[in-house]
Amino acid sequence: MPLREFLPLSDQQREVQQLAREFAASELAPHTAEWDRSSHFERSLIGRLGELGFLGMTVPERYDGLGLDAVTYLLVLEEIAAADASTAVLMSVHNSLPSQMLLARGSEEQRTRFLRPMARGELLGAFALSEPEAGSDAAALRTQAVRDGDAYVLNGTKAWVSHGGEAGVIVAMARTDTPEDRQGAKGISAFLVTPDLPGFRVGKKEDKMGLRASPTVQLVFDNLRVPAANLLGEPGQGFVYALQSLDQGRLGIAAQAIGIARAALDHAVRYADERRQFGSPIRDFEAIQFKLADMATRVTQARATLYAAAAAKDRGESITQLSSMAKLTASEAAMWVTTQAIQIFGGYGYVTDYPVERLFRDAKVTEIYEGTSEIQRLVIARELYAA
Ligand SMILES: Cc1cc2nc3c(=O)[nH]c(=O)nc-3n(C[C@H](O)[C@H](O)[C@H](O)COP(=O)(O)OP(=O)(O)OC[C@H]3O[C@@H](n4cnc5c(N)ncnc54)[C@H](O)[C@@H]3O)c2cc1C
Repeated sequence: MPLREFLPLSDQQREVQQLAREFAASELAPHTAEWDRSSHFERSLIGRLGELGFLGMTVPERYDGLGLDAVTYLLVLEEIAAADASTAVLMSVHNSLPSQMLLARGSEEQRTRFLRPMARGELLGAFALSEPEAGSDAAALRTQAVRDGDAYVLNGTKAWVSHGGEAGVIVAMARTDTPEDRQGAKGISAFLVTPDLPGFRVGKKEDKMGLRASPTVQLVFDNLRVPAANLLGEPGQGFVYALQSLDQGRLGIAAQAIGIARAALDHAVRYADERRQFGSPIRDFEAIQFKLADMATRVTQARATLYAAAAAKDRGESITQLSSMAKLTASEAAMWVTTQAIQIFGGYGYVTDYPVERLFRDAKVTEIYEGTSEIQRLVIARELYAA
C-alpha cells in the first residue's frame, strides 16, 4: 500500500486491521475476478465472516458481537472492499442497517432471536426500504401492512434488496397508515420478515454493471403474514429508524468506496512503474505523476473525512451531516480515482485482463445507493440550517 497510515490507531485497531488484510488477501482477492465474471455469490463467506467476528463488529459482547468502535469496523470494511467490493456491501448492510436497528429498537426477545445469531454469522440480515416507484423519495413507499389478529398482512414489492434472497431476516418497511388517512413518513413501520413466512417470494434478480458478486433482488410480499411480535419498535416510527441507521450505513459505503479507490491507486502506481513507452517507465512522465498525486490526495481527503465522522460517532455525537459528507467525498473520489486508473493503464485498463475496469464498475454504485450524491448534498445543505 503506497499511502502512509496517518490515523492514530491503537494496537487493537492495528491488529484487527491486519487480520482483515490477511483474510482479504488469502480468501477474497484470489477469487474476486471469477466471482465478478460469473456473478457468483459465495455463500460460505457468511460463516467465514461470522467466525472472524466481522458480522457483529459494533454489536456489544452481550449480544455475541465484538463490541468494537466504529473506527475499527470501518478500517476492516476498507480492507475487505479493497479486495472485493461485493463482500464489503454484504458486511456493510448487515452490520449497519438491520443490526443497528435491532440494537437500537428491538425488544429483548427480538435481539435474542435475531441479533445474536446475526452477530455470530449464523443469520444474514438485509434491509428493504426501496421500491420500484420509491427510491430517493423513500417515504413514498407503497407496500401496505394491515393488522389482522395476531399478525400483519403485507402486500407490495421491495426493490434493490442487497442479498435479499440469501438473508435469514430482512428489516422491511411498510405502511401501517390507511389509504383514507395517509400520514407520509409517519405512516411507515419496520417489520422483521423471515423467508419462511407464507407469502414471501424472491422476485427478479438484477443484472448489474458492477458489484456482480452481490445478488440484488426484488422481494415480493403476497399476503405475507408477519407475526405482530415481529414489528420492530413503535408503529409509525420505521422511517425515522431507517434514517438513523442510514447515518451509520453511509459511513460503511464511504469505507467501501475508499477501499475501491485505494485498490485502483495501488494498481496504477505499480503499473506506471512497470509500463514503458518512449524508452522510459510511464511514471517518469509528469502527466502521469500528477494523476497519481491527485489520486493519492483524493483518497487521503476521503479517509480524513470518513475517520473524522467515525470518531464523532464513537464520541456519541450526531453524525448526519458528517456521514453524508464522508459518503459524498469518498464515492466521488472512488469514481474519479478509478477513471484515472483506467487512463493510466491505457487500452489495458479497458479490458478485463487487469482489475481496474472492475473497480471502475464497482465504484459507480457508491454514488447511488444509501442516498445518491444529489441526496447527500440535500442532507448536507439542510443540516446547515438545522437549529
Ligand atoms: C446495487 C444496489 C443495491 C441496493 N441495495 C439496496 C438495499 O439493500 N436496500 C434498499 O432499500 N435499497 C437498496 N438500493 C436502492 C438505492 O438506495 C436506490 O437506488 C437509491 O436510493 C436511488 O433511488 P432510485 O434508484 O429509485 O433513483 P431515483 O430516486 O429515481 O433518482 C433518479 C435520479 O434523480 C435524482 N433525484 C431524485 N430526487 C432528487 C431531488 N430531490 N433532488 C435532486 N436530485 C434528485 C437522483 O439523485 C438520481 O440522480 C440499492 C441500489 C442498488 C443500485
